[in-house]
Amino acid sequence: MTRIDLPLQPNGSKVQWSYLPRQFNEQSIEEILGRLRAFVPTGDFTLGKPVREFEDRFARLIGTRHAIGVNSGTDALKLSLKALGVGPGDEVVTAANTFIATIGAIAENFARPALVDCTDNFCMDVSKVEAAITPRTKAIMPVHFAGLPVDLEPVYALARRRGLRVIEDAAHAMGAACQGRRIGSQGDLVAFSFHPNKNLTTIEGGALSFASEAEVERAERLRFHGIRKLPGGGIDVLEHAGKSNLADVSARIGIAQLQKLEQFNARRTALARRYLERLDGASGLRLPVDGPGHAWHLFAPLVDFGAAQLTRARFIEAMHARGIGAGIHYQALHLFQAYRRLGYREGDFPNAETIGERTVTLPLFTQMQDSDVDRVCDALRETIRRAK
Ligand SMILES: *Cc1c(COP(=O)(O)O)cnc(C)c1O
Repeated sequence: MTRIDLPLQPNGSKVQWSYLPRQFNEQSIEEILGRLRAFVPTGDFTLGKPVREFEDRFARLIGTRHAIGVNSGTDALKLSLKALGVGPGDEVVTAANTFIATIGAIAENFARPALVDCTDNFCMDVSKVEAAITPRTKAIMPVHFAGLPVDLEPVYALARRRGLRVIEDAAHAMGAACQGRRIGSQGDLVAFSFHPNKNLTTIEGGALSFASEAEVERAERLRFHGIRKLPGGGIDVLEHAGKSNLADVSARIGIAQLQKLEQFNARRTALARRYLERLDGASGLRLPVDGPGHAWHLFAPLVDFGAAQLTRARFIEAMHARGIGAGIHYQALHLFQAYRRLGYREGDFPNAETIGERTVTLPLFTQMQDSDVDRVCDALRETIRRAK
């Protein structure tokens, strides 16, 4: 098998910065090029047969009946809100610690993100959701943070009781399962991302799984300018919409990637468990919570930088100097200027703020060897110890 070399850190280290499209190493370059070469004569470039095949295979794999491919996870969230008619004056309850796209999708539909804090497993604190519901609330948007599934039972029970819809942000949770059932198999609307830094990639891309068939039809229209094709060849435009097509090239890559999902996630889980073992009891660290059905998108412990007499910037620099990439997922969103303008401020969500200040994402990707994990752990301990 020919392997595609990934760009390395400047010093040539084997452990790379954690945002690379590293899944491609799992496929031979011939396989990918063969798939790409095959598409030119077919005339399928966007929303063609490969997209339908990808949608079918994706739906089968996660166990849903209805799914559409779109060009990003962000668009999957935006479209789902739009398909539910969420707009100006409406509110959507979601987590304060997530990627910007989650609350950006709400704001881009001119609705207000009503944020709640997370628990110590980094997922939205479901017990705080009800207090955030107002007469304007239209939906609850839980985020399966780092691939750890949110306990969905109470979320759906609350939504039913209050007449709300649920949109799950499953960007981290491809292949994750809640109580033995795949995320996406039974949700109301569930949005996935296939950005290169996610567990499975189509380069850019996303998908949306639906419980309601009627909503699939609307979302498919919203994916392409609100157009409905008429019998006889004409079209009508039922409502204004933008464009969120999944390209057939992406779909072809996705079809190949789907076949590797179990393998990818099994490897990620093994690596994450090795981190947990190796870092067990390390001082100044809070390790992420493991749990059944975890897809291990991120391995992000909290570091007590104060106790280590270190800043995060210096910590990341020191790790880089050892050829080890480290990231931040995520700063607390409510403290960004755009969301402060909505009235949020320091102290609103203490857990999200603590995570935002202390979180460090360590390398986690399928080509890592067990010895890479050990090297990262040694570097981390040493960096923290040295600073004191
Ligand atoms: C990556 C991500 C998204 C957006 O997905 P894109 O495909 O990058 O648009 C949404 N929510 C979360 C939590 C993410 O991590």
